[in-house]
Amino acid sequence: MKNHSEVEAAGEALAAFVLRHPRLFVITGAGVSTDSGIPDYRDANGQWKRSPPVQHGDFMASFDVRKRYWARALIGFKALGSAQVGGAHRVLAALEARGFIEMLVTQNVDRLHQRAGSKRVIDLHGRADTVSCMRCGYSMMRYAIHAEMARMNPRFAAMDAAHAPDGDADLETDFSSFRVYDCPRCGGVLKPDVVYYGDVVPQERRLKAQAALARASGVLAVGTSLMVFSGYRFCREAHALGLPVASLSLGVTRADHLLSHQWRAPLTPVLAHALARLDERNAVAAP
Ligand SMILES: [Zn+2]
Repeated sequence: MKNHSEVEAAGEALAAFVLRHPRLFVITGAGVSTDSGIPDYRDANGQWKRSPPVQHGDFMASFDVRKRYWARALIGFKALGSAQVGGAHRVLAALEARGFIEMLVTQNVDRLHQRAGSKRVIDLHGRADTVSCMRCGYSMMRYAIHAEMARMNPRFAAMDAAHAPDGDADLETDFSSFRVYDCPRCGGVLKPDVVYYGDVVPQERRLKAQAALARASGVLAVGTSLMVFSGYRFCREAHALGLPVASLSLGVTRADHLLSHQWRAPLTPVLAHALARLDERNAVAAP
């Protein structure tokens, strides 16, 4: 853990970065939500802490994979569904309110940025609180289908296990008797509105983010290792555009070689310190 003066020094430097590049393209990852009780996938070296998440192709092709997915989600989604906004979300919403954020692109699917008050948000990898039918497009709230599956699977609903990222849980058992709830309209496969590993970000969403990047004066990555290409690409594109790229995170990032500034420090204290500095400066500058 960094000591107090290191946090302050990072906060000062971050405030200076924001003032020099006041139309920020912010990209966030799991690190901004760990204080909210949502586990992240990777350690400080960017390596998987656990077995990698479900692959899109496997989910769509295999009934057994879907049984295992939903049985585990019945337990693990409770952490995601009840997560509360954290300090990092609040500071980023405050920076937007002060006009410093052109766009916030999040790789998280928890919607906590929006709940904190951020409005200029792109959910790059979708959202975990809704599901859609992969055949007819019928859309439902996630909690509603969990309620159906808990009713259909009382034995599984009573189980408990450690919560894992993205509403998963570390449950290993025989999943063969699990009954999956299918689309109530057409019987098709229901899938959370999340871009799984092995799937691609919808083009329209990517273009919207790229357009925001072209309007931005700098990039700030917060709480992300940028290991996934869909997030990393924006740092590469920013670098090609000549934009400075800064990172605030606890660990290494895939974009370390592209960074103009890097603060390896706890997110919330550094962000809070930077915001306080910006507000002080604003109070002095006001007539
Ligand atoms: Zn359907």
